[in-house]
Amino acid sequence: MYKTTLVIHGGAGTLIKSEMSAEKEVAYLAALKVALEEGNMILSNGGTALDAVEMAVKSMEDSPLFNAGKGSVFTANGTHEMDASIMSGKDRMAGAVCGITGVKNPVSLSRLVMEKSEHVLLAGVGAEEFGKEMNVDFEPASYFDEEWRRKQWLSVRGTDQVALDHNLNPDRKFGTVGAVALDKDGNLAAATSTGGMTNKKYGRVGDSPIIGAGTYANNSTCAVSCTGSGEFFLRGVVAYEVSALMEFKGLSLAEACSEVIQKRILEIGGDGGLIAVDQKGNLSMEFNTAGMYRGFVKEGEEINLAIYK
Ligand code: ASP
Repeated sequence: MYKTTLVIHGGAGTLIKSEMSAEKEVAYLAALKVALEEGNMILSNGGTALDAVEMAVKSMEDSPLFNAGKGSVFTANGTHEMDASIMSGKDRMAGAVCGITGVKNPVSLSRLVMEKSEHVLLAGVGAEEFGKEMNVDFEPASYFDEEWRRKQWLSVRGTDQVALDHNLNPDRKFGTVGAVALDKDGNLAAATSTGGMTNKKYGRVGDSPIIGAGTYANNSTCAVSCTGSGEFFLRGVVAYEVSALMEFKGLSLAEACSEVIQKRILEIGGDGGLIAVDQKGNLSMEFNTAGMYRGFVKEGEEINLAIYK
């Protein structure tokens, strides 16, 4: 029997403490806590890491505060295009969706891609069609139309500027959500979900739905979910890089996460962070930005939450 562990993030970025009202901080911490409680309920009832990460991510997708699901940012065309992925460390099965519109819980659709299709990654209308066949919940555009997101978008609309959620003034919010877990059987899983970057064009897709970049899980090394400047995380193959450093160089989870986030990704200009867990229940919440919404809970212990360094 393994001691269960669940770690979540709600995005990393340049969030500045002085710009965060006490009210907002309370709201974010409360939403993180709910996601941890919902995911941990599954683990403490003997459920799987896969179910726990899906549940925790779903909970954050349903909150308007995070850049995923309901709170997704606007694209250049004023729509919402979401990306998500999930991976099981036991058998290295994976599923992902990108550029999808209208799906209430992209993480659950990525799970269905993994379990009910012979594919790993489905994009755009094809993914939506698959979702309809699978009877997933769809929501009208108005569901995703959050006023503060619209304001963020209007501030850069018509320009070539794309903005990472957390780099937008004056809100400096950050978004993308993710979860990693270890269950009582020693299985690891990871999931990530995002609305991407505000004002993104041309069907831009970041690291979040790309297995090995934004998400990775392998029982013999670790489970990882990333957040940050997607283009750099793609080039850095960040999630797999952490696993590879453990597998081939014998680094510990903490050493591997620090090497990738504090050195390798910075060297190519990337900013952001990740959460990771291994089979021993070691966990990492590494970031090179001012903060990362994050939290974790271990079997029989209190929930831990944090935003800043
Ligand atoms: N990594 C995400 C993307 O590039 C954004 C984020 O983590 O905030 O789509």
